[in-house]
Amino acid sequence: MCSRNRIIIRVKLEIFGCSGGIGKGLKTTTFLLDDTLLIDAGTGVELLTMEQMLKIRTVVISHAHVDHIVGLPLMLATIYDQHQHPIDVYALPDVIQALQAHIFNWTIWPDYTTLPEYNPILKLHALNVSDTLQTPAHHITALPAAHPTPTIGFLVSDGQRRFVFTGDTGCNDALWPILNSSPPDLLIIDVSFTDDVQELARLSGHLTPSQLVDQLGQLNQPCPVRITHLKPGFEQAIMQRCQHLLPDWDLDALRQGDCFRLQAIEPCPD
Ligand SMILES: [Zn+2]
Ligand SMILES: [Zn+2]
Repeated sequence: MCSRNRIIIRVKLEIFGCSGGIGKGLKTTTFLLDDTLLIDAGTGVELLTMEQMLKIRTVVISHAHVDHIVGLPLMLATIYDQHQHPIDVYALPDVIQALQAHIFNWTIWPDYTTLPEYNPILKLHALNVSDTLQTPAHHITALPAAHPTPTIGFLVSDGQRRFVFTGDTGCNDALWPILNSSPPDLLIIDVSFTDDVQELARLSGHLTPSQLVDQLGQLNQPCPVRITHLKPGFEQAIMQRCQHLLPDWDLDALRQGDCFRLQAIEPCPD
């Protein structure tokens, strides 16, 4: 019997977009999990190859804001002729309704829930707060978020390792008791604005660095934190302030091109 341990990659998370806006080199929220599951479909979908798009089986959508969905209709049209499997899309019921009414309505885009007739490429499914979606490799639990439109975050776990994406959110006191009972190995959290536009941040449902301090103060156990949805042009100012206020945390900007491999150490099999 082997006495050594081996490192197993449990979860691979690739960041194709994480900006709070667009501009040269900046793409909006698009995360790819273990090649098969897309978390939000922002403009980062543009960076996926055809091969990568064809591997995606499931898409979870945090909310209906256009920076999180625009890649979905475009991806479906792109892979329509070649796909082998339908794409299952999970989101809050309000978001499903919005996608059906405002995107897949034959005016803005074809209704892919009816195309092709005998095996439609798009299947829309409701996912409510606290629901857990089981895929072959992951459990994805919908978390509460505080944003002007119905929004969720996600707790993604393979049973051993887990990460949290807050979705777009302002102060969200309902989140922290959940994370305290399931401490994440990585927390991706929205801080879009600087402290001098607190009112704009409050109205638009995003955090500022000072509010981040208050929010992380509710976490019993520190974990690595990556900041997402930074407003273009303010990335450095926001990050400097966050790091100044939270010097003891493993805290950095989430960056397009990042790839996280959450590992576990397991005994070698016989
Ligand atoms: Zn939003
Ligand atoms: Zn957004």
